[in-house]
Amino acid sequence: MQRYNRQEKLKYLQGGGQKKLFAASVLLAGAGGLGCSVLPGLAGAGIGRIGIVDDDRITFDNLNRQFLYTPADVGRQKTEAAAAWLARFSPDIRSEIYTHRLTRENADLVEDFDLVVAAVDNIETRQLLNEACVRRGIPLIDGGICGWGGSLFYVKPGGGPCLACLYPQADKTDTEPAAFGTMAGIIGMAQAQMAVLALTGHTEGFEGKYIWFDGVRMEFHHTVIKPQSGCAICGEYAKEQAGNV
Ligand SMILES: [Zn+2]
Repeated sequence: MQRYNRQEKLKYLQGGGQKKLFAASVLLAGAGGLGCSVLPGLAGAGIGRIGIVDDDRITFDNLNRQFLYTPADVGRQKTEAAAAWLARFSPDIRSEIYTHRLTRENADLVEDFDLVVAAVDNIETRQLLNEACVRRGIPLIDGGICGWGGSLFYVKPGGGPCLACLYPQADKTDTEPAAFGTMAGIIGMAQAQMAVLALTGHTEGFEGKYIWFDGVRMEFHHTVIKPQSGCAICGEYAKEQAGNV
């Protein structure tokens, strides 16, 4: 397709990589600040099928960072407005929307996709997605923003540390953290880039790699997390897998 002429000769996309992206499906969990940046990243890349799950409606104080929406969208469901944007941007991409909150009871949704991007603003849902993906062997790309910074973490299926290894005792946050649009944009686009690498099979070196962006110093940092043997999620999954052999 002509719209991908400028990218399909790139290393990793040439020789069938672009076709892999057309054939791929991604579930975008969250159509807020991060999601509004992940979605154009995925759509621009040419991911063939994108699911969007979110139960929120657009409010005025979303507009400092949720760049797919305008004041005319205030009050609309985010899933509907995001899907409408996607249909205008790239009518060839199949979109599916799920206008409900992700819960343990409906987490089976992740099974219908090749990869999941967690673009939500609370640690409970990030952990829920982590558990759902680890138990089903689905790759997960987690992201978060806080103030002038943000983080990215790739959870590889079938081994390696998971989000619960990284945040074993995540504190519940009762207040809405400050959130700035460029941070959501940078981290969301980095999540989309990570999705492209994962879907084309180029994740070597990313196992356990926790990436942190400092938006004041304009620096990316990383550290490598080790799997926690007592992890309630991937540790238990590893035991189950070993027991099935
Ligand atoms: Zn773990």
